[in-house]
Amino acid sequence: MKAEEIAVEGWRKVVRFRDGESGLDAIVAVHDATLGPGCGGCRIRAYETPEAALDDVKRLSRGMTFKNALGGIPFGGGKAVIIADPKTQKTPEMMRAFGRAVESLDGLYYTAEDSGVDERDMEIVRSETKFVAGIREKDVGGNPSPFTARGVWRGVQAAVRARLGRDSLDGLRVAILGVGAVGMALAELLHRDGAKLVVADINETSVRQAVERFGAASVSPDACVAADVDIFSPCALGGSINTETIDLLKAKIVAGAANNQLLTPDMDAALHQRGVLYAPDYVINAAGVISVGLEILGEWSQDELTRRIDAIGPRLSAIFERSAKSGRATGEIADEMALEVIANGKKAA
Ligand code: NAD
Repeated sequence: MKAEEIAVEGWRKVVRFRDGESGLDAIVAVHDATLGPGCGGCRIRAYETPEAALDDVKRLSRGMTFKNALGGIPFGGGKAVIIADPKTQKTPEMMRAFGRAVESLDGLYYTAEDSGVDERDMEIVRSETKFVAGIREKDVGGNPSPFTARGVWRGVQAAVRARLGRDSLDGLRVAILGVGAVGMALAELLHRDGAKLVVADINETSVRQAVERFGAASVSPDACVAADVDIFSPCALGGSINTETIDLLKAKIVAGAANNQLLTPDMDAALHQRGVLYAPDYVINAAGVISVGLEILGEWSQDELTRRIDAIGPRLSAIFERSAKSGRATGEIADEMALEVIANGKKAA
């Protein structure tokens, strides 16, 4: 296997691994390792060029630095991408070669699933390296969606307290865009708290289920962002807050599970200016990485995980408070707080 280190300013280590026999062409990027080894999933995608793969792994690994720091787990930011079509080009040999690549970094990077990669792939990776997580064993780890839903539910509660001055969700209206694994579990928690739901999904079966189970009203995906509700909860794909949708928003709170909810970074300040409280996505949806972190540390238990997920609420409250005091947007405050955690980690080292 050929390992070629790529010098990238601001990154701890970036390595491209190529293995002719298995066809592996992967880039592993560790952005910051102050708090611990870089930790983040491996994505398999048919990138058009190696440059596009490099850009993506840089963006994703940097994002993990912030996510892990505010997730309260002792890991830095890392990510891997494999340049291949996951449906037609992924093979066990390729995953084994990727495992050897991870192993060669000697613990600087821990891998897990991301899009195009499932638990079976990670089982194969594990045959070559111990620096891997996201594999359910006995009662440890496993499907993160219910955990993520719980974190988002705690985040919604914190946002409601901060923006609407209420301790209860009873009677509040919430629009959930995307009732998939996380959105449906979130709907259940919100329904239990007495929230009135509006749901949208391209999958009609999911919509029907939410209507039947929770008495939700349904709208089309395009209309969801404009629904007359208190809270908009994006739980489908990223980018639902953008220059076209922001002025349609009637909700006073944006709090959901999707990654990259803001299509462009300027939407952070734009929401703030309009008096909409945004729960930064990487803070509110961190339960999955918290679970993976506990798994790596050998500290995973349902009780410990629940305790750590419930801390997402107070963490968001601290962000909201600093935002209110300083008049700055919540996304900017979250980044600042993550950098403080890392700076404190540097001092302690
Ligand atoms: P999922 O695939 O189970 O659910 C997504 C749902 O969104 C599906 O029901 C799908 O039909 C729907 N959808 C897709 N495109 C849509 C569109 N254009 N309009 C309306 N609905 C659409 O995924 P999930 O695991 O529930 O994750 C949801 C989001 O949360 C994703 O953005 C994911 O990256 C993010 N996230 C998930 C987790 C987790 O633990 N699963 C953790 C962190 C972040």
